[in-house]
Amino acid sequence: MDSAETRPVLLQCKHCAIVLGDSIIPANESLALSSVALTSITESLEITAERFRSTKSEDFGAVYVWLKCIRCSALVGRLYQQTPPELEHLSNMFFADMSSGNVSVFSSAQSEISPIAHDESLSEIGKLKGMILLHNEKIIGLQNQVESLRNQNSAIESKYDVFKKRMNAMTRSIEQDDSRLRTIEKAMKQMQR
Ligand SMILES: [Zn+2]
Repeated sequence: MDSAETRPVLLQCKHCAIVLGDSIIPANESLALSSVALTSITESLEITAERFRSTKSEDFGAVYVWLKCIRCSALVGRLYQQTPPELEHLSNMFFADMSSGNVSVFSSAQSEISPIAHDESLSEIGKLKGMILLHNEKIIGLQNQVESLRNQNSAIESKYDVFKKRMNAMTRSIEQDDSRLRTIEKAMKQMQR
């Protein structure tokens, strides 16, 4: 992108003024309704656990988690965790949600004096955070699978137990019938004498 057509911005929480990260946006674009990809993030973004699947047309089918302001808990953005193939470029990216009404923009002049805005290691930390989160999700998924297999197993075991009990009950009642039959046979033999 030509720098004349873009401008760097620093984004902050509208409510508590904490700096969330920075972004490069088209110079003439109104941001009010859009999501803005963050080029770096600060430690003030909290990645939440609950996952949502988008039903909006612009990111339909993408799975994301909300990013919260660590100081005041306002929902300020999204991290995409799974995306349909056509939205793959969004995957593992942090976005500030300007339409949330919780994010405001500093001027570019202010963004240039901020050391945070140009710290590349922060964006690396952001990517790593996303990766760690994804791995955690995968581990949790595997743990759930193991748990459900274990449950299936014990369900089979308890079905077998029930079956065994029924068999025992049937054997017992056959034995009882058998002894009754013998009693009847004896009685009949006595009557025949
Ligand atoms: Zn805040």
